[in-house]
Formats: sequence, C-alpha cells, structure tokens
Amino acid sequence: MKKILLTATAFLMLFSCQNDQTESTAALTNATARRSCASQDVLAEQLKADPTLALRMNQIEAFTQKSMLTNRLVNGKVVIPVVVNVLYRTAAENISDAQIQSQIDVLNKDYTATNSDFSTTPAEFAGVAANIDITFELVKINRKSTTKTSWGTRDAMKKTKQGGLDPTTPTTTLNMWACTIGGGILGYAQFPGGTLATDGVVIDSNYFGLSSAASYPYNLGRTASHEVGHWMNLRHIWGDASCGDDLVSDTPVHKTSNFGVPVYPYVSTCLPAHNEMTMNYMDYTDDRGMYMFTNGQKARMTALFVSGGARAGFGI
Ligand SMILES: [Zn+2]
Repeated sequence: MKKILLTATAFLMLFSCQNDQTESTAALTNATARRSCASQDVLAEQLKADPTLALRMNQIEAFTQKSMLTNRLVNGKVVIPVVVNVLYRTAAENISDAQIQSQIDVLNKDYTATNSDFSTTPAEFAGVAANIDITFELVKINRKSTTKTSWGTRDAMKKTKQGGLDPTTPTTTLNMWACTIGGGILGYAQFPGGTLATDGVVIDSNYFGLSSAASYPYNLGRTASHEVGHWMNLRHIWGDASCGDDLVSDTPVHKTSNFGVPVYPYVSTCLPAHNEMTMNYMDYTDDRGMYMFTNGQKARMTALFVSGGARAGFGI
C-alpha cells in the first residue's frame, strides 16, 4: 500500500513539474519536420481548468498500480469499437472510407504485434516486446462539412455546438476525429480520467491512416498508434521530463524525445549507461522508426479494462 501511495504522489508531481516548452516550440517553428503530439499540453490545460481531474487521475494510477500487482495475467480479449468523425473543408480533408479503414488495420497490427517490422526489435528489447492483444473494429464514420481551416487543440472538433461533432457513446466507443489541427501538431489524445464529453483521440487528416508520400515520414498510421497509447494511459517514454519516469518499469530511461530514425544502439545520456528504446511507439520517432510496446506498457493499458478500471465499459 505504501508503494501505491508513493506512486500516486510521484504521479501528481509528474504533472505539476513538467515543462512542455520544448515540444511547443518545436511545433510552432517547424511544422511537420519533427513529430509533435499535444496530449501532454492539453492535459496540463485540463488540470488547470478542473481541480478534480488530478484526483481522478491519481485514483486511476493507484488502481493501475494495484491491478498490475494482482492481475498480472489478464484473460479475455478487448475489442474496441471505433467511431471516426471526419471534419472537412477541402476534398483532401474528406479522407476516404478506405483511408479510414487503413488506419484501423494499422492499429490492429500494431496492437497485436503482427506489424511486419515488429520482428526487427533489437534482441536487447525482444524479451519485453509485447502483443497488447487489443483489437479495433470500425463501427461508424461520421462526416461533416465545415468552414474552419484549422481546429487547434482545445477540443472544438469534439463539440457539435462549436462546429465539430460530439463523441458517440464514449463509455463504450473510441472516438477518433480526423481534421486539420494546425500548429504542427500531428495528433492528441485525452488520458483516462478526463471528461467523457471530450474523450477520444484527434489525428490530423494528413496523418490519418496509410497516407500519401506527401505525409512522409508520418505516413504509416503510427500517429494513431501513439495517440491511442495515451488514450490507454501511456505516457511519453521520456516521462515528459529530462530522464523522466513514464511509470513503466521495463522501458529504459530516456533523456528526452527522439526524432527521425535513430540507429540502434542509441546510447542514453541518462546514467547509468544504457541504450534507449527509440523504437517504442511512445517516443517521437518517424513512423517507420516505431514498432513496439512493452509488457509493462501492456499492463498499464489492460488495467483500464478490468472490473473497476477507468475504461471498464469496454469490458474484458
Ligand atoms: Zn504523445
């Protein structure tokens, strides 16, 4: 119990001490040259606006830590129904059904370790590389024409009254929004514990699914694999701090976010000396540079879906 309380305290500190300046600066100065995900920035704003959110997230964290201790083996499968909400002004933003299905296919591969690059995981990390064993099923596509040129990261796309589309039954459905975000942001997710009215993930239309060469190096649908990771309670692998903690024990400590496709072994500057797991979906590398989750990340994710978990509505 003591360990759980300590972890909860550490969790609060994580969210009160972080500094997102680097990420935001990169986003503003360099449109898509470097990956930028706004999940942590959006969370920081939500924590400021709603004092009860930190409490809820700490309760989820305590439950997650307890569940990881007692329910190491989770039996049964989780199938996540997905509703995709497309907001478009241009023809390019009105992505096709096939494009949307290609994203669902990528998620299904990446979350069952059937992606073709999974086998390229370096031997050093192969022992912790996980099959998350969660699958996704496209149930509906909603489309809405709009005059907005970009939607930002303040959840307007999730609100019908603001010209967007309200989420469909978020207790039992993963809602995804495809729209132009702007500011160099590829996507963002809401962590478990946030209000249901804005639950889900947003992926910029340019990076939704297997996309054209114009979207390279984010053309393999991995932005959604990363964002759905956040939606399932995963932190960035560098813990959003220098040599920070991602609350997962089998991922190495990372100095900061990594970009491009680092060549293995990529030696960390965090001590003691070790290699960073730059190929983890929760880093910031190019789509072709990320292809695995770990068992520890799986334990965090699956803890959401057991009885009492923050996403128990999806059931196991
Ligand atoms: Zn992220």
